Amino acid sequence: MTNIKGIAASNGVAIAKAYKLEAPDLSFDKKVIDDVEAEVTRLNDALDISKKELETIKENARKTLGDEHAEIFSAHLLVLGDPELINPIEDNIKTNKVNAESALDETATMFVNMFKAMDNEYMRERAADIQDVTKRVMAHLLNVSFPDPALIDEEVIVLAEDLTPSDTAQLNKQFVKGFTTNIGGRTSHSAIMARSLEIPAVVGTKTITNDAKEGDTIIVDGIDGHVIINPSDDVIKQYEQKQADFEKQKEIWAKLKDEPTVSSDGKHVELVANIGTPEDVTGIINNGGEGVGLYRTEFLYMGKSELPTEDEQFEAYKSVLEQMGDKPVVVRTLDIGGDKELSYLDLPKEMNPFLGFRAIRLCLERDDIFRVQLRALLRASTYGNLKIMFPMIATLNEFREAKQLLLEEKQNLQKEGVEVSDNIEVGIMVEIPSTAVIARQFAKEVDFFSIGTNDLIQYTMAADRMNERVSYLYQPYHPAILNLVNNVIEAAHAEGKWAGMCGEMAGDSIAIPILLGLGLDEFSMSATSILPARTQIKDLSKEELASYKDQLLSMSTADEVEAFIREKTNQ
Ligand code: PEP
Ligand code: MG
Repeated sequence: MTNIKGIAASNGVAIAKAYKLEAPDLSFDKKVIDDVEAEVTRLNDALDISKKELETIKENARKTLGDEHAEIFSAHLLVLGDPELINPIEDNIKTNKVNAESALDETATMFVNMFKAMDNEYMRERAADIQDVTKRVMAHLLNVSFPDPALIDEEVIVLAEDLTPSDTAQLNKQFVKGFTTNIGGRTSHSAIMARSLEIPAVVGTKTITNDAKEGDTIIVDGIDGHVIINPSDDVIKQYEQKQADFEKQKEIWAKLKDEPTVSSDGKHVELVANIGTPEDVTGIINNGGEGVGLYRTEFLYMGKSELPTEDEQFEAYKSVLEQMGDKPVVVRTLDIGGDKELSYLDLPKEMNPFLGFRAIRLCLERDDIFRVQLRALLRASTYGNLKIMFPMIATLNEFREAKQLLLEEKQNLQKEGVEVSDNIEVGIMVEIPSTAVIARQFAKEVDFFSIGTNDLIQYTMAADRMNERVSYLYQPYHPAILNLVNNVIEAAHAEGKWAGMCGEMAGDSIAIPILLGLGLDEFSMSATSILPARTQIKDLSKEELASYKDQLLSMSTADEVEAFIREKTNQ
């Protein structure tokens, strides 16, 4: 039995067999062959298995994630069935008498390079499809397994070096009982998605893929951040008990599902949720959320082979707005970059992707992409209570430019006779220190702030949120962070605006009393954190907490802050 400590990323306990999701070794030797026909047959066999596999994956994706996500696999199937790609591979085997692996690699690389060099977005997207499909076919030629989350059909715990957000989106909750990774932190997007899928997860274990073998029994304790490999029977019993206790606790929290969120001294705050897809709205409703505080629209763009159309986006936004009725829905415009890649945009690799060409920076330069999203949002605005916010705003000019584009698209739609709501609040995420520092100036122009502490902390502390080695610097209670947060809230209130928070800090049980005392108006968190937060707030006095404000803001360390809050709130 081995017990590994990691970072608790998604609540709950799971026990099942290990399934390793590792990139296969696809290296091969180039060989000259004699039997050309046998080599062509090997190629065709590998193509056939890949096709069957993709059909299954596509069907699974369609069932669990909807038609939109299944589309990427249709694109892959098209590649596999395209004679213009497949015939040259065969010809290469026949004319040059080389093994299928080498013919596949050479021909696919040639097409990929050719498509990538074209000044045509559609063709560049096809290059990404060819790369993906080639890997699958190569794995079959080499007879190495090509693990795929969408093919899992028994109860497992997924073990991986890291999971991309689109890998995570493909996990089928029916079979994937938990996951654990070597890298990543609490605010990496795979961790955030695990919370909305309600799959227990522990990230940042550093070594889990080395320590455990396929098929080992694994316990993922997402409450305290432990992973146990091949536990004894006694330990299994102990964790089954912990699992049962957690379920009981959830029943107690559920009692407040339909109650408003009110502190012990009668002050109301809004508890809303972060979502990635329209399907996540069910989680908000089941957990008594009072709205959507952050809709991460980039997931609409991911796990696909091309940009979503205006109509596809309109349908997604409309669906969320309609499901939420008159409750607020804060939609964040495209925040791609960092750990969220769009392979089909074929952007150059950057040294520091979290500091690079991302989010609003990309949208302002690629306004062809941005305008499509803005139009879709404006068209959907009449279906509910829409608020729009821009991510990664560092300067007032960025906000003004983005807002100008929104206004232009509004006018364009109105000229076309399309109805658009006149009551859309337009705000920004505060996740860059420069913006938090001059929040006063921003507050005169924006309708609201939503503090994105996942990024605000990484930029303030200069600590990559994906790097578990520096995860100790993810310090939400650090006085520097508290002062920035306070500055934003005060600036908003001075101009009669509201301030929310949609970073993970908003659902943290030590941070909640602090934020309540600082006067935060809206707390947006994973849907599963809403009921524990509401239960906690019910017993907190906002007035008492507000009286600690100056003391907290002048403390020297996060530990000091934490100890103080623990003492005052009996935690
Ligand atoms: C944040 O940065 O706090 C945030 C909510 O956005 P994301 O986690 O998607 O970067
Ligand atoms: Mg962010």
